[in-house]
Amino acid sequence: MERLLDAKLSIEDLNEESLRPRTLDEYIGQQKVKEKIRIFIEAAKKRKEPLDHVLLYGPPGLGKTTLANVIAHEMGVDIKVTSGPAIEKAGDLVAILTNIGENNILFIDEIHRLNRTIEEVLYPAMEDLKVDIVIGKGPSAKTIRLSIPPFTLIGATTRAGLLSSPLRNRFGIIERLDYYTIEELSQIIKRSASILKCDIDDRACIEIAKRSRGTPRVANRLLKRIRDFAMVKYDGIITYEVAVEGLEMFEVDELGLDIVDRNILEAIIYKFGGGPVGLSTIAAAIGEDEGTIEDIYEPYLIQEGFLVKTARGRVATQKAITHIAKSKFGGDKR
Ligand code: ATP
Repeated sequence: MERLLDAKLSIEDLNEESLRPRTLDEYIGQQKVKEKIRIFIEAAKKRKEPLDHVLLYGPPGLGKTTLANVIAHEMGVDIKVTSGPAIEKAGDLVAILTNIGENNILFIDEIHRLNRTIEEVLYPAMEDLKVDIVIGKGPSAKTIRLSIPPFTLIGATTRAGLLSSPLRNRFGIIERLDYYTIEELSQIIKRSASILKCDIDDRACIEIAKRSRGTPRVANRLLKRIRDFAMVKYDGIITYEVAVEGLEMFEVDELGLDIVDRNILEAIIYKFGGGPVGLSTIAAAIGEDEGTIEDIYEPYLIQEGFLVKTARGRVATQKAITHIAKSKFGGDKR
């Protein structure tokens, strides 16, 4: 089942293009990163050179792809978008690099998933604007070095730690994107609502923002679902009351936890005395897949301080116990 709160890209988001900001001014939040990028862009433009290679890292859905497109727009250049898993052979990457226009941008999403031999094509390309082509096979094989035009590589990754150091060292600009504040998310929701021509009040924006897990992609997705709810159940206008009712129907609680998040915490608290308890035991108790719990649900629960990982298993924190008791018993019990 599609998960409403998943920060990863889903079919649902494929029309998100229209909601993408185009300029740095439209790009909300990430102030420090924006300030620096603005300066680097201005300097590169003054020198009439491409921007230095940029590595953007941070959790999914925080706007890495969006920022890469914004950079291209601000530099006034074209951008070619691809991803680590989409480049299967070294030759695919060589073809892209030899066809790139002068000063243009190559964006590689999930760059940590490039395999090592393909990654090695990037080293001379990034450093010396050269690519090596091997012609023939076996002992008679010859390597020819071709020049490519000056370009900017923008790499995006959710796992900067998985990047090899020779690759990481070739990026002149390395920036981390952080989770957004409620204020920033509510501005993003307001902007998206106006693009979607949907009427929403400020308190509703804040309420949706609070439940969006610090992630613009989740905020936009919740907005679209609440818009459906408001159109079918009411007159289409998203007031605070309509937003709260819709969010309750979708079982997204006031801290952005959904039913599976709460099942995990409830199992640890009520079935296993608060933990420590192993991942496989939790998975069996709630009938979810172990890997799904670990990759999709746990990171947010850990980041928000609901759960800690110890050598002996997962432990629910006091924050989790208080929150679950409040939502389960309406706040009467602790
Ligand atoms: P992934 O790592 O999964 O590729 P991402 O970090 O590249 O995700 P994007 O696809 O760039 O995320 O952004 C997700 C959605 O959030 C886009 O639809 C975009 O409209 C919106 N968005 C992201 N950042 C911002 C921002 N700073 N201001 C306004 N909208 C934003």
